[in-house]
Amino acid sequence: MARYIDPVCRQCRRIGEKLFLKGERCFTPRCAIEKRRRPPGNANPRRRRASDWSLQLREKQKARFTYGVLERQFRKYFEMAREHSGVTGDVLLQLLESRLDNVVYRLAFAESRRQARQLVNHGHFTVNGRRMDIPSYLVKEGDVIAWKAVNGTVPEFIQVLTDGLPKRPVPLWLRLDVANLKGEVASTPDPTEINTGIESRMIVEFYSK
Ligand code: SF4
Repeated sequence: MARYIDPVCRQCRRIGEKLFLKGERCFTPRCAIEKRRRPPGNANPRRRRASDWSLQLREKQKARFTYGVLERQFRKYFEMAREHSGVTGDVLLQLLESRLDNVVYRLAFAESRRQARQLVNHGHFTVNGRRMDIPSYLVKEGDVIAWKAVNGTVPEFIQVLTDGLPKRPVPLWLRLDVANLKGEVASTPDPTEINTGIESRMIVEFYSK
């Protein structure tokens, strides 16, 4: 399975803002954006007025980096959104939010989407009682996402990861059950509730050229 191997902080520097890809570190002075805001490999950037196209490209890249999706897969999400009834940009965000790795992150079971993706890949989650190790699996209303117990007990590392849940607010479209270490998809994600700061309209404009 293809994935990013570049340092993720470079992605934030390329976009020029914090994308919160590394969990706790993003909130410390060790964050690369706090130290060097300029784009990687560009020691003396020339100040130019950004074109509409470059702003749209930036927004598309921001969405890709935020959700950790490669170009080909992102394009597929866009095509799915375009075929769907509804506002294409909103549906695109809903699809991205519905990825299993994102849901694990939103339920605060992982510090970052990257960590969530790794946990899913390693088979630590079930969906509706069945093991699911595909991070791009799209959850739907009513799905129950739970940590996978081993021989009926919760492994120690899961107890450490989930200690003090919820560590951050869980969106209204998800229902977190702390006692049973599981979450349920209560509804489809509400685009107005998605706090990534991504302007989906610009992504639609980018692909519509
Ligand atoms: Fe981005 Fe987090 Fe790295 Fe800062 S620490 S540059 S917010 S990934």
